[in-house]
Amino acid sequence: MKFVGAHVSASGGVDQAVIRAHELNATAFALFTKNQRQWKAAPLSSEVIDKFKSACAQYHYQPAQILPHDSYLINLGHPVEEALEKSRDAFIDELERCSELGLTLLNFHPGSHLMQIDEDKCLARIAESINIALDKTQGVTAVIENTAGQGSNLGFRFEHLAAIIDGVEDKSRVGVCIDTCHAFAAGYDLRTEEECSKTFAHFERIVGFNYLRGMHLNDAKSAFDSRVDRHHSLGEGNIGKTAFSWIMRDPRFDGIPLILETVNPDIWAEEIAWLKEQESAVQAA
Ligand SMILES: [Zn+2]
Ligand SMILES: [Zn+2]
Repeated sequence: MKFVGAHVSASGGVDQAVIRAHELNATAFALFTKNQRQWKAAPLSSEVIDKFKSACAQYHYQPAQILPHDSYLINLGHPVEEALEKSRDAFIDELERCSELGLTLLNFHPGSHLMQIDEDKCLARIAESINIALDKTQGVTAVIENTAGQGSNLGFRFEHLAAIIDGVEDKSRVGVCIDTCHAFAAGYDLRTEEECSKTFAHFERIVGFNYLRGMHLNDAKSAFDSRVDRHHSLGEGNIGKTAFSWIMRDPRFDGIPLILETVNPDIWAEEIAWLKEQESAVQAA
């Protein structure tokens, strides 16, 4: 069974995100548990936590269907010690917020070397950041997202994800989220079923589906292998609809949140309905 949804707004409170997901007919959703462009946020009140949990119960969302995303400011591979500390503290706070909400996953971008340290050193730093954070928290899995490789962002090669996982001590609490737009922009082709098979066979060899905890389903405005991160609505970009239909028909993507971060929220309900149709087409066959 596939869980499909979108990264919905949490404005007005995290409980509002649950209602927005329900209104989209989504069976999964992503959210920020705090303002993603600020370092500090007020702690979640017990009232907000209760409202979030009761909304999840009312609309039937289990933790496995919810993929919170951390702040864009956090860089777990930061080359400068003081800034690295700040990011590590903020990441621990994000994990704790998820835990308070009863959630089990936290999706984040691995980090950037800012041209100041080499890739391997940065990847080791990211793994160490994850180790520190997992040690200080409980119950939440750190879900590393692949990136498009813009600027000095690491995580654009499957080997980067594998290297980070390799450095994490508690393998039971580390996983990955594959963003289709980022993969495509990083040079992993998805334009035909054959290319999808090849790309994910490669993913299986380098990382492994046993680490797959979520997907971001985005078409790409950016060109293949351009290392540019520009999302598009499904079927309107350079990837095309085939990849998304293929994913919905493949059981290796069952049981994890499949999240749209596509550019037009007005058509999310339609996109979700279309994705569900792709899955039911195979079930009917
Ligand atoms: Zn993404
Ligand atoms: Zn992106």
